[in-house]
Amino acid sequence: MPELPEMENYRLLLNQRLIGRIITDVQVEREKSINVPVPVFQRALIGASIREIERRAKHLLFHLSTSNVLVLHLMLGGMMFYGTEEEKPDRTVQVTLSFGAMHLYFIGLRLGYLHYHSLDEVDRLLQKLGPEPLNAEFTQERFAQLMRKQRGTLKSVLVDQGVIAGIGNCYSDEICFEAGLLPSRRSQQLLDNEMDRLYHSMRGVLAEATRNGGYMEMPLFAEDRLTGGHDRQCKVYDREGEPCARCGRPLVRQDVSSKKSFCCLHCQH
Ligand SMILES: [Zn+2]
Repeated sequence: MPELPEMENYRLLLNQRLIGRIITDVQVEREKSINVPVPVFQRALIGASIREIERRAKHLLFHLSTSNVLVLHLMLGGMMFYGTEEEKPDRTVQVTLSFGAMHLYFIGLRLGYLHYHSLDEVDRLLQKLGPEPLNAEFTQERFAQLMRKQRGTLKSVLVDQGVIAGIGNCYSDEICFEAGLLPSRRSQQLLDNEMDRLYHSMRGVLAEATRNGGYMEMPLFAEDRLTGGHDRQCKVYDREGEPCARCGRPLVRQDVSSKKSFCCLHCQH
């Protein structure tokens, strides 16, 4: 499932292409992907322009010129492609937003969705999310306070969107590896220096993955060489049996709090 770096990469690339563009057509192949009847959805969107695209946790918010918002969550298997009809990948598309000859295709929205909301509704829907881990106001002290309040393992606490927003299964393991901490450690029981390492690892891993374009496999547009650049840089996630980048010993899968998890038993404590 795309996490903060993947969605932030999409946000940056789409903002460069879509700000000010008018939606000229809307096609919905799968009604369950949206939250209002198709004709209402089309009437609300066609003729509106994209004011700005914002990210909150793993959501993208497409702010429209009408002051309403399209809220996107890709969930598992969702992705986007921006281009002409000829460039479109051979995949089933659930929703298409057209901007003249260019189209934004939403693909693999099985659990994912593209919902139409007013700004107030969006505020209400997203109010339970925890702070953004890369925001300047999210200091080391605030992080430690939040983590010390949680009873769970690092794995379960890091992926809890109500504690910190935007981290999922892959980056929680990458952050723990970078910090040299086992994902099965209890959040409450970290020593001060371990908590510091975890904070800096979280900021470092998420920022680097974003710079590298995240791990999505499919490019966002035809000449896109950035998206997916981080896929090869992931050090532990889904790499069971491969040598640890630090010590060379084989990485292991150790599910934690019923979540798939990978680590090095030698480098992480
Ligand atoms: Zn190791």
